Amino acid sequence: MQKIIGFGFLVVLVAVLVAVAGWQRGISSPMVTPEPSPLVTLEPDLKKHNIPVVAAQIEGIEAPRVEPMRLMADVAALAGERYEEEERQLARKYIISQLRSAGWEPQQQEFEEGMNIYADRPGADPQAGAILVGAHYDTVALSPGADDNATGVAAVLEIARLLGKQETARGLRVAFFDSEEVGLFGSMEFAATPELTQDLRGVIIADMLGYACHTAGCQSYPVGIPAFSDKGDFLAAIGDTEHLPLLQAFQGEFPGTPPVFSLPVPFKGMLAPDTMRSDHAPFWYQNMGAVLLTDTANFRNPHYHEPTDITTSLDRPFFFGAVQLMVNGTTALLGSTESLVTPELPPTMPVN
Ligand SMILES: [Zn+2]
Repeated sequence: MQKIIGFGFLVVLVAVLVAVAGWQRGISSPMVTPEPSPLVTLEPDLKKHNIPVVAAQIEGIEAPRVEPMRLMADVAALAGERYEEEERQLARKYIISQLRSAGWEPQQQEFEEGMNIYADRPGADPQAGAILVGAHYDTVALSPGADDNATGVAAVLEIARLLGKQETARGLRVAFFDSEEVGLFGSMEFAATPELTQDLRGVIIADMLGYACHTAGCQSYPVGIPAFSDKGDFLAAIGDTEHLPLLQAFQGEFPGTPPVFSLPVPFKGMLAPDTMRSDHAPFWYQNMGAVLLTDTANFRNPHYHEPTDITTSLDRPFFFGAVQLMVNGTTALLGSTESLVTPELPPTMPVN
């Protein structure tokens, strides 16, 4: 997960200009109640949008169960600084060897700032397109990045192992992005490559899935985002409002999985820069539906980007449950051929 810098500033500037314009309107007509921020009035409960539940459409397909020992083996193998080229090369070797063991043929996408690794398994229905599941493998300097983002890499590897040989309607593509921490370079390169994206129906990004806190007040929120709980024991799913069925695939409670805070974000996150800090954002900007699954990073985890982001800082039951939720949602999306674009509500339907 990135720190807010760079283009975040531009977004803040735009937000300030919008706020100032609104304030000036208020001055000229003081009786007018100012419009609330669209983010504050968001309805996180997608059921009220009357959108079909994707998971319900795949009766008969049961999501496979994650193997906790394998997940911890991945995190243990990866946790260690992955900042310099030689360090990132070691991580690539591990990812490639795990993909090959699971029967995949990994490919490399080289670009100026690094190298992405990806692999593809076609679906049974060529018209149904593919789902991309991805995570970044680099770290900031001086942090072992157990949570950020060895947990996300382990989750994508586990999906490659569990769903690599299953026959599903949609194809499955997995990707491991480089140079996220220095500017989302890997995912920007991937998202801008038509041969790798033109058949995609949805993108699922895992960035930090392994930290939880269980005391009141340990969870904080960016300005403009409604609070879900004051404890940090939930998984956040952040999606674009143009593709609500994609976001909805990650809802639902299952034994052993954490509650999910589903946050539909309008205007590709322009009003909330904190919702754009990971590899899903470049896909949003290429007009693709994308969901970020995260433990909310620095809004919960005191080890964020610190030397203490180590394996023993993780909350293992939370991590395993979060990956299971990701597997459940991915299984549903692969089995379905339904559109993942938000349907237009019929004009006669009440707004709420
Ligand atoms: Zn990070």
